[in-house]
Amino acid sequence: MEEASQNTETVKKVFIQTYGCQMNEYDSNRIFDTVKKIGLITQVAEEADVLLLNTCSIREKAQEKVFHQLGRWKRWKDDKPNLVIGVGGCVASQEGDAIRRRAPYVDLIFGPQTLHRPEMLKKVSRGQKIIQTKRHARQKVRNFIPEYAFQQTQHHGIKAHLAITKGCNNHCSFCVVPFTRGRERSRDPKSILEEIGVLFGKAFLIILGENVNSYKANGVDFVELLHRLDELENLQRLRFISPHPKDFHEELADAFVTLPSLCEQMHLPLQSGSDRILRRMRRWYTMETFYEKVAMLRDRLPEATISTDLIVGFPGETEEEFEMTMEAVRTIRFDLIYSFKYSTRPGTRAAEYPEHLAEDEKSKRLQILLETQGKIVQEKNEALVGSIQEVLVQGKHYRKNSITGRTRGNHSVHIDDSCAIAGDLLSVRITGALQNSLEAEIISTSTVLS
Ligand code: SF4
Repeated sequence: MEEASQNTETVKKVFIQTYGCQMNEYDSNRIFDTVKKIGLITQVAEEADVLLLNTCSIREKAQEKVFHQLGRWKRWKDDKPNLVIGVGGCVASQEGDAIRRRAPYVDLIFGPQTLHRPEMLKKVSRGQKIIQTKRHARQKVRNFIPEYAFQQTQHHGIKAHLAITKGCNNHCSFCVVPFTRGRERSRDPKSILEEIGVLFGKAFLIILGENVNSYKANGVDFVELLHRLDELENLQRLRFISPHPKDFHEELADAFVTLPSLCEQMHLPLQSGSDRILRRMRRWYTMETFYEKVAMLRDRLPEATISTDLIVGFPGETEEEFEMTMEAVRTIRFDLIYSFKYSTRPGTRAAEYPEHLAEDEKSKRLQILLETQGKIVQEKNEALVGSIQEVLVQGKHYRKNSITGRTRGNHSVHIDDSCAIAGDLLSVRITGALQNSLEAEIISTSTVLS
């Protein structure tokens, strides 16, 4: 348990459960910072006085998980009536009314933009109910400097996450992010570098944003920011999540070659291989331009790994259009895909589209996609056997005397009979290929973190 910093006036022990993406994890760290000013954080839910769920609503499944968890906590509250239950993040923003209806015992509902307000937790601990779920106006906001500062941010281990943009202006027809997180705001580069001061000594930095590569603030664009981050002392590896293909261009492709810390790995979310579906998704690129972007990176760095997101069964997707997605998968041979069956998000344009596909048809298409991708990954992993890779050790593997780490291309690697520790940088030879990971033997070790 962490120590309270100063004012322990009202809030007692707070437990935070996070569901969703890395941006949500990052936001939970912001909530930790707020709580630490006025109370205690506990890792044990059963001993908490305040239970907070920080949530994601991009997928329907995540949302259902929230109600399931709330149901469990309701039973605890029946035995302990003073227990405070709160829901924050995107589900709260998007589904505040549904939460009030389905879970009236919830005391606090707050969107991602209000999580930094300690007074909320104080009031709710005094027995007040607080519901703050406003959606965001469509005003243009650029060069945004957050009104809050999180000097006590928690950054565990060798790795740190840092949000540089929030919100999104793209309004993809299937996505709720612009509604739940608002218009895109880029953080002032000075405040980014100030927070980096808190992270001093981290070997591995992941910068985050819903549309991270459209970053622009106070005259600094995304590529310029990468250059400034690359100059950080001690930084071994830099990655970014999640970019939009429309904002991937020659200068960014060049950065992969010129910046030593920028890992040779790019996430390019394709979503569909059909131009008609891409238009209906409001993705603002075609398959032709997507192939050009892939070539932009591979022409410079043939060994670069590329991952993607794909949605199958988008409303109106025909068999032929699904086959176009499969064709793109077979042609590009992504190193990793995050694939999803389309799920309707209330309030989005796609929810209003006709021709929603039956669940079993979506499941069938997803299965075909996963089988094909499974074979591609196996082949690509086998092609790496015998190669020399740099691995940053992340910790122990569940197998005895075994450690786990990541290559610069983001492959998971296991090494047996090693006493290397998190933060060690290894030169390894790949000795085996499994479905989702590689096995390796060490050639040499250097310690990048003391
Ligand atoms: S780019 Fe599209 S999918 Fe990504 S957060 Fe913005 S609206 Fe959502």
